Amino acid sequence: MKVLKFGGTSVGSIKNMKLVKEIITDNEKKIVVLSAMSGTTNSLVEIAEFIRKGEQNKAIDCIAELHKKYQIVLNDLIEVSNLKQDVEDYINSVFEFLNSLILDSYSELLYNKIVAQGELLSTFIFTKYLIQEKINVQLLPALDFMRIDKANEPDEFYIKQNLQRIINESFPADIYITQGFICLDAMGKIANLQRGGSDYTATIIGAVMNADEVEIWTDIDGMHNNDPRFVENTHAISNLSFDEAAELAYFGAKILHPQTVMPAREANIPVRLKNTMEPTSYGTLISSKYKGEGIKAIAAKDNITAIKIKSARMLLAHGFLKKVFEIFEKYETSIDMITTSEIAVSLTIDNDKNLISIIEELEKFSSVEIDKQQSIICLVGHDVVLHPETHRLFEVLKDISVRMISYGGSNNNISLLVNTNDKITALKKLNTYIFEAVTV
Ligand code: ADP
Ligand code: ASP
Ligand code: MG
Repeated sequence: MKVLKFGGTSVGSIKNMKLVKEIITDNEKKIVVLSAMSGTTNSLVEIAEFIRKGEQNKAIDCIAELHKKYQIVLNDLIEVSNLKQDVEDYINSVFEFLNSLILDSYSELLYNKIVAQGELLSTFIFTKYLIQEKINVQLLPALDFMRIDKANEPDEFYIKQNLQRIINESFPADIYITQGFICLDAMGKIANLQRGGSDYTATIIGAVMNADEVEIWTDIDGMHNNDPRFVENTHAISNLSFDEAAELAYFGAKILHPQTVMPAREANIPVRLKNTMEPTSYGTLISSKYKGEGIKAIAAKDNITAIKIKSARMLLAHGFLKKVFEIFEKYETSIDMITTSEIAVSLTIDNDKNLISIIEELEKFSSVEIDKQQSIICLVGHDVVLHPETHRLFEVLKDISVRMISYGGSNNNISLLVNTNDKITALKKLNTYIFEAVTV
């Protein structure tokens, strides 16, 4: 059995939904995970934000505008009258529900209820479309099996038990459709796997079902060697190891949600990245096999905060780093990069929710400097640290102000911390020097 996930663009228009139908109807049994139609989750986030700010009228307008879009989808996609009625009723019920929330006071739960509606809509509509096309399909509600625990990790035991039970209890189908992104939390309340989380849903399902392969279908022909939103002349990489793909996803390659690779790596299930609009192109295969060597790709992650902790007492003092790390652990804040000198340690975090408390505690035994709006640029490949071409990286550094370098933490990764204003220049220069082999 395979698990196929289709992203926002892939289900974002009638034309693309029809392409998805072609891709999934190959007589093989499969689970299909869908995102919300492109733009929907952003609109839902906007609605939640208007409610948070007390701007109810703007929320109402935004809901009405989104409702109109779905009425158009309904009219263009569903022709059979009883199915049309079902979909119309469902769409109306979702928008009535959204309108019923506008006067509620804002909470994380309210946000979660609102943003969940995108995947609920896309899967309902697409399932009815497949029924109209006489395909043997069943909708599996993700909220009946997908759950995270207190540490926000997937509760694989619960997911496996419940998903298998639901499949056994439902009519046998060729295609099972389910929602990406949404889940229940440890208390059984509606939650989600964070923005872009449908990719993660797919590999979690792949792992618990011991799938042959997970396919992530999107709007580009695989993982590119640099961020195509900022750099020209990038190309798809045919093969990546789990470790390489995990580093790229974690360090900002938007094509994959940061945690997507983990369940697949643990269960050793290959992940294929494919382009819905060009199904015959090879895409990227992520597996346990290493192929090629040297630097394969560059990615960048924004919204990084650098913290420099200076202490004269650090000199020769054992236990200093332990004290520092304990503070980050206490505030459940993970550290991405770290560099040390004799009197100072610099580190980076991407979640600054508890920054003020962290600084207060650090200042009890050191002086602290903070730099916000930093970006981590990550170079990923097989044995990049050992590879002779890696020296090119240092040729680039002379033009860009680099705040930190992490080299040798793993053989797959070299990370640079730069000011976010310099990120695009850095990505372009690295592309030129590393992939286009220009010497200075
Ligand atoms: P989906 O809605 O299908 O989940 P996303 O927008 O989340 O799609 O991810 C695909 C997008 O990721 C691409 O259109 C591309 O702009 C962006 N992207 C960023 N970095 C990379 C990369 N290294 N390789 C491929 N795509 C990338
Ligand atoms: N619809 C969600 C989002 O836009 C999840 C996803 O697309 O993977 O973040
Ligand atoms: Mg995505």
